Amino acid sequence: MSYKLILFGPPGAGKGTQAALISKEYGLRHISTGDIFRKHMKDQTDLGKEILDYMNKGLLVPDELTIKIALNEIKDLNGFILDGFPRTIEQVKALEQNSSVDAAFYIGVSEDTAIKRLCGRKTCSNKTCNEVYHMVDRKPKLENICDKCNSSLYQRSDDNEETVKTRLKEYNTKTAPLLNHYMHKNKLLMIMKKQ
Ligand code: ADP
Ligand code: ZN
Repeated sequence: MSYKLILFGPPGAGKGTQAALISKEYGLRHISTGDIFRKHMKDQTDLGKEILDYMNKGLLVPDELTIKIALNEIKDLNGFILDGFPRTIEQVKALEQNSSVDAAFYIGVSEDTAIKRLCGRKTCSNKTCNEVYHMVDRKPKLENICDKCNSSLYQRSDDNEETVKTRLKEYNTKTAPLLNHYMHKNKLLMIMKKQ
């Protein structure tokens, strides 16, 4: 049985971590638009250059670009977990014109916790590992080195307090309306974690 799932929620809620677990458990392709965009920035592609400013400021990448990238990823797939797409009602509509969705998971977190988590976050640079650390709550044994695979750790350029606040604002104004949308479609599943 294959599922088409969506995962959304504010930055810092743990979308990436949960999506990786669900993807493994159900054998679904994990598609993160944030990861795809970061890869383009790293490789300095035309798209990477176009989105740099939005990403570094914590603003959403324009719908037109995002929709093209996301729809291209899911075409021909029978099952997937979309991590961070759709994030606007425009994106929801584009997705609905192209694919069915079985369920939309919402993961919540308080703004204070989101800021604390993201500002101390460091991630393993080895893409097949992707282990996440925290400079206060979950330090690696050796500074800046992954305990699991010995690769170096990196901090995302948008994980600083000012940018995180912009990302939260973008979430509240543009993405939060998805809660109502998927609730009315009877597809909403809410995961509220202990803070
Ligand atoms: P987070 O949810 O923690 O902010 P992501 O890695 O999912 O982190 O996204 C990082 C950035 O990538 C966002 O701030 C935004 O600039 C861009 N992005 C990712 N997905 C989308 C999307 N669906 N629509 C617009 N921008 C997106
Ligand atoms: Zn690692």
